Amino acid sequence: MTGAGTVAPPGVADGPLPRVWADVVGQDAAVAQFRRAASPEGSLAQAWLITGPPGSGRSTAARAFAATLQCEQGTGCGECRACRTVLAGTHPDVTVVATDKLSIAKEEVRALVMTAQRAPATGRHRVLVIEDADRMSAGTFNVLLKSIEEPPPSTVWMLCAPSAEDLAATIRSRCRLVTLSVPDAAVVAELLQRRDGVDPALALRAARAAQGHIGLALRYATQEGSLAAREEAARTLLGLRSTGEAVLAAQGLVDRATAEAKEHADTVAAEERERFLRSAGIDDGKVPPALRSQVKQLEDDAKRRQTRLVRDVLDRYLLDVHSVLRDVLGRQLGTGGELVNIEVAPEIEQVASRRDGRVTLTLLEAVQEARARIAGNVPPLLAIEALLARIAVSLV
Ligand SMILES: [Zn+2]
Repeated sequence: MTGAGTVAPPGVADGPLPRVWADVVGQDAAVAQFRRAASPEGSLAQAWLITGPPGSGRSTAARAFAATLQCEQGTGCGECRACRTVLAGTHPDVTVVATDKLSIAKEEVRALVMTAQRAPATGRHRVLVIEDADRMSAGTFNVLLKSIEEPPPSTVWMLCAPSAEDLAATIRSRCRLVTLSVPDAAVVAELLQRRDGVDPALALRAARAAQGHIGLALRYATQEGSLAAREEAARTLLGLRSTGEAVLAAQGLVDRATAEAKEHADTVAAEERERFLRSAGIDDGKVPPALRSQVKQLEDDAKRRQTRLVRDVLDRYLLDVHSVLRDVLGRQLGTGGELVNIEVAPEIEQVASRRDGRVTLTLLEAVQEARARIAGNVPPLLAIEALLARIAVSLV
């Protein structure tokens, strides 16, 4: 905790990239910032705010940073017990809170704050990572604030959020900010090849379609039919001719998002239920009356999770719509390089030639408005119907 504000001399932080950083791709500046802070010459802030768009690798970066701090070699070697357990999520002094619900419960943060007060058991630091720090209410932020203001000497907080503005000002002003950028499609494709063994051509196609979202790129590359469904949606969008077609298409998108979210939520819920019953020593699947309220709680959580998932999936679809319109605009202005939606290039050319760029620009704004409305709890079907109807009448 010495040398705040000084620039670290060349040293540990400038050597070859240690193994724990291998999966943090396309983030050279951020990685250098973390490594400098973790090096003996660096100054280690006790609260970090890691921002970047979804899929840019915020939580992967937080874990790599945590591993570097706990590493027995002090480098993030990726081989020592500390590095391996941090990356596997089993290190006793690294706690990661993630949520797939709409918000993180106050009780959960309260428990985390209590953990933050404890000295590390085996490592040099006690590290607390909150993956979706933007999903906290004002009251929950307050629970966190005290601990972030005056943490015990070995405690390091890492909060992850899409942008700094997503956090209460009182919290963000106490954090060192690290900003991740959207990684290049080529860099993401290389990761999918190296880490997941995806075929190079498919990896590039998936990475381009996912527009820098690493998890989504992997899904496109590995989930049968997902790229084809995306392509089909782009074709439908470019072919919309009337309000009636737009209403049908909107219903189709919402149905598809709901099915996708339900499938995922059901899988997770079944796993949780099974884990819970097993931990209670029950292996015949029959819930005794004493545990019914807890199982009910798990089911309620699963429903809430599904609500958020539907919104997340729809937001992703809207980003796809945005990318198609951006391709159209690129053709109209003659500025676009390679198309994101190369599979529907003929349709894009056709639409681009019918209208000028001004119309497309207002439609791009309309997509962002629709995303904001859905995030602000407007019923998704209404917001998407309105958007697609506008696109239909504008592009004819
Ligand atoms: Zn290590």
